[in-house]
This record gives sequence, structure tokens and C-alpha cells, in this order.
Amino acid sequence: MEAKLTDNSIIKEFFIFYYEKTCRISVPRMIQVNAFLGKNRKFCFTDNEIRQMTDTALIQKYNVPGPRYTSYPTVPYWEDAGFSIPQWISGLRQSFKESSRDARLNGLFGQEGISLYIHLPFCESLCTFCACNKRITRQHSVEEPYIEALLKEWDMYRRNFPEKPVIREIHLGGGTPTFFSPAHLKKLLEGILLGCTVHPEREFSFEGHPNNTGREHLQTLYNLGFRRVSFGVQDYNEKVQKAIHRIQPFENVKNVTETAVATGYESVSHDLVFGLPFQTLENVRKNIALTIALKPGRVALYSYAHVPWIKGVGQRGFDEDDLPPGELKLQFYKTAKALLEAAGYIEIGMDHFSLPEDRLYQSMRSKKIHRNFMGYTSSATQVMIGLGVSAISDSWYAFAQNEKTVEAYYEKINSGALAVVKGHILTDEDLKIRRHILNLMCFLETGWMPEDRFPGIAERLKTLEEDGLVTITANKITVNPKGRSFLRNICMAFDLRLIAKAPSTALFSMTV
Ligand code: SF4
Repeated sequence: MEAKLTDNSIIKEFFIFYYEKTCRISVPRMIQVNAFLGKNRKFCFTDNEIRQMTDTALIQKYNVPGPRYTSYPTVPYWEDAGFSIPQWISGLRQSFKESSRDARLNGLFGQEGISLYIHLPFCESLCTFCACNKRITRQHSVEEPYIEALLKEWDMYRRNFPEKPVIREIHLGGGTPTFFSPAHLKKLLEGILLGCTVHPEREFSFEGHPNNTGREHLQTLYNLGFRRVSFGVQDYNEKVQKAIHRIQPFENVKNVTETAVATGYESVSHDLVFGLPFQTLENVRKNIALTIALKPGRVALYSYAHVPWIKGVGQRGFDEDDLPPGELKLQFYKTAKALLEAAGYIEIGMDHFSLPEDRLYQSMRSKKIHRNFMGYTSSATQVMIGLGVSAISDSWYAFAQNEKTVEAYYEKINSGALAVVKGHILTDEDLKIRRHILNLMCFLETGWMPEDRFPGIAERLKTLEEDGLVTITANKITVNPKGRSFLRNICMAFDLRLIAKAPSTALFSMTV
């Protein structure tokens, strides 16, 4: 007897049964189940049914808490015991020299230069989906002392550099950078750039809030060399916006996007979030249609990270029951991806889409794309200095994070000390794994040599291969199209620190 499955719940149940019996994610077109059920029945599946069952099983298996890998080791696994500020500074000096080496061979601009991330933590109102480090206030008197502290901090770093820094990248993140007045941003950037050389291939960018980024903000930062801006859009639906406490009409996003383009910005990015409370497939479709209508060069499509256990994130404005389940989230992502691709966008690494003319796509093509605490960037620098509350610095060989409250940050800076509160010196093994994870995150493949064989990794990779997520050849691991939604899980196979010590408390958001 042959049965054709048409009912979704039967498919789901059958698959759970099949998966439990076989531990296989891939579903054959026809399955004879008498071995399992004691009945002589054959099930024939359509392509669509096979896709549904595969997705269900993949979600059940792989939707687990996991890092987003903007660093390796991830912050919860840093070893503070082996870290000190003098060590951090001496490693930073060494790294700075290495990143300047090419300049001596090829002239000044043969060198890669350094990146700066500047954290501007103030926001006027709390968005209840936000997991950033921020301080909610309507008092704009906080702007000036904060800028003074940032300039003092930068000066401390400058005094430790063996030569004049060449600035390749600056990113203003937050919080809300456009909380600050254009005059204060000008004062900050002029102070930062004073006595530095700006790299001719600089990439200066900032995060703008569509509700408070004015023409003057855009013009001031443009005059200072900024050519890229990303706007936090999240979702256009009113019910979703109410739940996340971020009312932001389409008109605001449209106006600010058009003003940025008219000012001369070469790249405008829209950040969307899927998996927010009350989101439906219909409103995800609408979000993408409205986004495409404004044609930003880049679209970041982030999976909502629900991490209410992290103190102070403010993710308490809705119930967990209001959140879409993992399977629906995957459907949101697939729908959004298909619509974006049909409109000419190309998927980059994880969470990102770019039009072919945008620098992000070009950097992927030329293999210059990089991923760090700022997310994806179109140029790789070995040294990234993080300034401001909670900012993280990276010298490739070590990480250092600043104090997480404004008060503690001021206390250190105003006493003439760096605000670094913790860090990690990478071991040789960390450096190798970091390279693999970076390759996977940026290029969806990594070279795989016999000497790289870390404990247990062969088995973990084999499972990923059996589930159709990766292809393994003699010297390479490549992420399959089906594996893109599970990139974090694929990187987790390399994360020896996570595997050696699973977290005993909730640390990471779910991977889907
Ligand atoms: S989402 Fe942005 S504006 Fe909203 S609270 Fe977080 S940092 Fe502030």
C-alpha cells in the first residue's frame, strides 16, 4: 500500500518518528515503514513535503543556544586570569607594528591601518527588543563629558603607539550615535583625527536612528569623511513596533534614506529583525517590499536574540509566547531571502545582503571582507581599538573590554587609567580556530589540513555533512546552501572552549 502525505501535522509527526529511528535529517523520496511500524506501508513525498520535514528536523536538532561569533573565543570564554593591561598594551604595540610593516616596503598606503569603534551609549527611549549596552536619558548635558572622556581615552592609546596611526575605519555605534548633536560629533571626530593620517581607502560609518538623524547630522559626518550609514528599521508593522516600543513610521525611514543619498552617502544600510513579537509571514513580506522600494545598498537581516537574562537589556516588554517559534522564524528568513534575492541582493556571510555595486559585495568578491565586533566590514585590519563604555578592542592576538557602566568608565578614564576591565590573550590553538571560524563566517569555507585536526572535530563535521549542511573534501570544508541558516552551529563544531565546558547558565541566544 502506498500513502501520499498531504497533511502538515502528519508529516511532522511522521518525520519526528523517522528521525528518532534513523537519526537522519535527509529524507528519501519514498520510505517503506513496515520495519518501524510493523505495517506494510510506503510513503511517497513531494519535494515540498521533503523540504518541510527536513526543515522541521533541522530546527529540532540545531536550534540551540549558540554564539554569533564576532570573536573567538567568545566573551564568556575569555580567560581573565592570564590577562593584564601591561600585557595587552605590549601585544597591541607589537600588532600595531605588524600592521604598519607593509608601509615601509610599499610606501605609506601599502599599510592596512587601524580601525576604531566608538560606542555612544545614550538613547532617549528604551526599545524592548534591544540587547545593546545603552543608557536611557533625555538629558543631553551628558554629551559633553562623555566626549571629553572618549578623547582622553584615545589620547592614552595614542601615547602607546610607536608611530602616528593611519586610520582605515571608524564606526560610531551605540546606543544612538545621533543622540549627540552634530556639533558634538564634529568635536569628537576632529579630536580623534587630529595628528592621525586618514587612509585613502577609509571606511567611516555610523548607526543612525531614523527618528532623530537630521540633515545636519548627515552633512556634518559627511564633511568628516563618513560615506556609510546604517539605519535601524526592525519592522514596519505597528503592532510589532508597539510591542518593541519603537514607533517608527515608514515616512521617517524614507526621508532619512533619501536625505542620506542626496547628501552623497555611498552606502545606506537598513537593519531588519525577524523573530520579533507578533511578527507574521505577511508582515515580513511587507517589510521586505518596503525595504526594496527604498533600495538600500545593504540589508542586515538579524534573527532576534532573546536574552532577557542579560542584566539590563530591557527585554521584558512582551511575553515569550508572543514570539514566533523556530520553524516560523526559519520561514521568515527564507521568505525574506527569496524576496531580496529576486530584487538583486546577494547574501553575504550570515545575516547580510548587498547589492552588487555596494562595497560589501565587492569586498566579498575580492576576499577582503572581515568580521569583528562591528559585524562585517569591507576591509580587514589587525588592530581595532574600541573606545567608550563596554567597547571591545582587538589586536588579533588579544581582546580587551572596557567597563560596562558609564560611572565606572568615567572613574577609570578621569583617574588617567585605561577603562579596560577584562580581556583574553589568544593561545596558538585559539588563533587557529579563530581563523577557521572567520573563514566560515566570511567566505563559507575553510581550508582543512591534517594538522588542524582538533579533538572530536572529525565526528562533529561528519554529522554536519550527513545532515547536508557542509561538504568535506581532502583539504576544504564548504558550507552548503542548506547550511547557511545554521552557520553558527557549523562554527560551534570548531569551538573547542564551548565544547570543553558547556555553559551552566543561559549565555547565548538561540541559533535560529
Ligand atoms: S535599539 Fe538602539 S535606540 Fe533602541 S534602546 Fe537599543 S540602542 Fe537604543
